[in-house]
Amino acid sequence: MQIVNSTALVWLRNDLRYHEQLSFFKAAKNHSRVIAYFSFDPKNLEKDRWGFRKMGEYRAKFLLETIIELQAELKKNNITLIISKEAPEKDIVHWVEKYQINSIYFQKEWTKEERETEEKLRTNLSSDIKLYDHYDQFLFHPEDVPFTLEQLNNVFSVFRKKCEKYTSVRPLMPLPKALSKDNLLPQEFDPPSFEELGIDVLIVHPHTAFPFFGGTKEGHSRMDHYFWKSKKLSVYKKTRNGLLGPDYSSKFSPWLANGALSARTLYWEIKKYEQEVTKNESTYWLIFELIWRDYFKYVSLKYGDKIFCQGGILDKEYDWKKNEQLVNRWIDGTTQERFVNANMIELKKTGFMSNRGRQNVASYFSKNLLLDWRIGAAYFEQQLIDYDVHSNYGNWMYVSGVGNDPRDRKFNVQLQASRYDEKGNYQNRWIQNTLFE
Ligand code: FAD
Repeated sequence: MQIVNSTALVWLRNDLRYHEQLSFFKAAKNHSRVIAYFSFDPKNLEKDRWGFRKMGEYRAKFLLETIIELQAELKKNNITLIISKEAPEKDIVHWVEKYQINSIYFQKEWTKEERETEEKLRTNLSSDIKLYDHYDQFLFHPEDVPFTLEQLNNVFSVFRKKCEKYTSVRPLMPLPKALSKDNLLPQEFDPPSFEELGIDVLIVHPHTAFPFFGGTKEGHSRMDHYFWKSKKLSVYKKTRNGLLGPDYSSKFSPWLANGALSARTLYWEIKKYEQEVTKNESTYWLIFELIWRDYFKYVSLKYGDKIFCQGGILDKEYDWKKNEQLVNRWIDGTTQERFVNANMIELKKTGFMSNRGRQNVASYFSKNLLLDWRIGAAYFEQQLIDYDVHSNYGNWMYVSGVGNDPRDRKFNVQLQASRYDEKGNYQNRWIQNTLFE
């Protein structure tokens, strides 16, 4: 039921889209006025305990592009996006008072820093402000799965089979209720400059596997290309272990990570493709990978801050090293393993690395060099354009033997290189290029 003459704030975090977005949908349904808010939280530009930035320049650039596009899209729909550079836990209070906001809608986040920000915000706000939070990042909604968090199995395939058998992906949401022009605020809000975000890599590397920009439109255009124009989806399972070029895998991860695309959107588009083009192992396999993404979210929901602890979710005690020189060699791509080096150079120069590459470099870091896996994970957090807290820490734990791999495998990097880069083209691309740059 609509609450007449009331103003809602949509606090955007990792749900940076307008359509298929629960906060906008609910806020527009229940309130006469809606304002949107996003902050480039200064905490994300700080350095962590290992000396890495929480958000490096590749992701910052992608995020800025996403926000600029979203602001324009929202304006078309008569919603102002306040873009801030302040800590949201304090800043939101100011806007709530200024515009007499009485309700705040936002996507639930449960990892440590996000929780702390939210807890502080709740303390700073007057108690008559209503906060409505909800899960909007899953494929299988937590209210729909046939198990409690305590019952979540530590083995992915058990989780997957239960979800596939007993849970349906929710349908796409209808468009939010239209708002009139007078919903727009008299003020406009400028995004931060590249300088303020500490970005100086502005030119996309000519060999990047991810030559795309941030924003929902670009995400949809990638989907259009990968599914409908090139029909690469039909062969995804055969190509997904590739290393060179944009099309060996979908490259949806950066849009999924900041919410410019929802997992439901991808799922229903795959279903449409299966009806109109073909349904095969490959179309299924993309859904299978989206279920992995969900799984790591469930793992972090269940285990909370343990995903950031050295012993991981298994409380394993290994004798991890913290050798700065070895860490730097890994980062710079100057280890004894050429395949590791090529992947690390690609990551450094583009902010992207294939899944095959990530598994190998992470295994090498934790199981060959025996370095504290959390340092590697923190470097990925800084560097990856698609950094997602659950997928990153979940995968790092998995590969390092403190997470969900029941077999605790170690990658034979040389064997992997000969299997997936038989002619050495990938290694030559990144290693030769470095010599000339
Ligand atoms: P595709 O192969 O096209 O897969 C489609 C989608 O499925 C991906 O976009 C992603 O959302 C999901 N997916 C695929 N593989 C995985 C996986 N292993 N775990 C979780 N989701 C998966 N992915 C991130 O999105 N952010 C991260 O921070 C991240 N860190 C990683 C760290 C390590 C050590 C490893 C081994 C993997 C990590 N991954 C992460 C998972 C995976 O490597 C990327 O999702 C994938 O390479 C992105 O490329 P794509 O979109 O083309 O994937």
